[in-house]
Amino acid sequence: MIMKVLVINSGSSSIKYQLFDMPENKVLAKGIAERIGIRGSCLTHYPDQKPAYRNEEDITDHGVAISLIFAALIHPDHGVVRDVREIDAIGHRVVHGGEIFNQPVLVDSTVKENIRRLSGLAPLHNPANLLGIEACEQIIPGIRQAAVFDTAFHHTIPPQAFMYGIPYWYYEEYGIRKYGFHGTSHQYVARRAAEILGKQPAELKMISCHLGSGSSITAIQNGQSLDTSMGFTPLEGLVMGTRSGDLDPAIITFLMEKEKMSAAEINDLLNNRSGVLGISALSSDFRDLAKAAADGNDRARLAIDVFVHRVRKYIGAYAAELNGLDVLVFTAGLGENSPEIRAQICQGFDYLELWIDPEKNNIRGKEADISAQGSKPRILVIPTNEELMIASETLQVAGN
Ligand code: AMP
Repeated sequence: MIMKVLVINSGSSSIKYQLFDMPENKVLAKGIAERIGIRGSCLTHYPDQKPAYRNEEDITDHGVAISLIFAALIHPDHGVVRDVREIDAIGHRVVHGGEIFNQPVLVDSTVKENIRRLSGLAPLHNPANLLGIEACEQIIPGIRQAAVFDTAFHHTIPPQAFMYGIPYWYYEEYGIRKYGFHGTSHQYVARRAAEILGKQPAELKMISCHLGSGSSITAIQNGQSLDTSMGFTPLEGLVMGTRSGDLDPAIITFLMEKEKMSAAEINDLLNNRSGVLGISALSSDFRDLAKAAADGNDRARLAIDVFVHRVRKYIGAYAAELNGLDVLVFTAGLGENSPEIRAQICQGFDYLELWIDPEKNNIRGKEADISAQGSKPRILVIPTNEELMIASETLQVAGN
């Protein structure tokens, strides 16, 4: 039976959406409501087989955004359904599921209360996700909604990998541990990798590199997350566009003393003004950095080198944790689109007998096996598709 599943990714100031026919995986329409609650807001709607449509009405809050999205979906000219009740289920991306949610769930009042309780761990994300859920409920009362958590895929990480070396009491009191993020993306590419290679996930030791403006790496064994580079928050791990990733924690107290910085200022520094932007003092976008480096900008070169060094360090660590490697996957904006970065990352892994093919690597934004002949691990590029993953999880949860 075909179900129409709407996927909603509700952020603090934008809502992205896609309407699917499932299980055909067919996208009927997609779009984004941007600058919610900020001047200059707009909704851009891309229906399949019809021209795009832009609505520049004021979007004062998430409720208004969701009602404009439904209006676009049923619009006589730009719509793809006649009535919102043709939509069978809605799947929501929810960032933090804590230790409560280890799989997608059907939303009810208890689930909403738990998402609200977890807001302390994701103050920028979970409240916005909840606003999206509640706005949909208001417009289509009784609609089946699923919550699909960014953290859920990582619930299989064992305690020796998720505990930090601080007093145990902080874990008990505040839930301070590694949770990991980008789970939907890592899970999607892991499944696709197994399909592409015609193997069962249980047969493969994989490392998936989600490299975008936010980046993380996951070690995957038996199709399950064994370890991942993001931690208690999405700040840990790789050097990202504007986030620092791993650093000596003493730097924080040092800066607080020297620069008289508050906790909020440190948060802003490490999340918004660090990473490759901070090192290069130029841009968080790798396209700008590559161009500047080619023009002789040493700091842009350094920023790229630091980024690559950290990725390589994690790949080495995870190959050790997995005790071997069958598949290395590249995904997300940078992983899918930058042959240069992929080539730089894959240098010097002779001990893994991992070699990239320069010709095959010369692709962008499509699935490909880019490993050289003779390379033991396969190296795959797999464009991520979190929306499709959320739609298929929603189908599972709400279809029954
Ligand atoms: P994402 O967050 O997954 O959308 O990835 C966005 C990032 O991918 C951008 O900030 C760029 O750094 C990077 N990116 C996207 N396209 C390219 C490209 N053609 N070459 C290099 N980097 C790219």
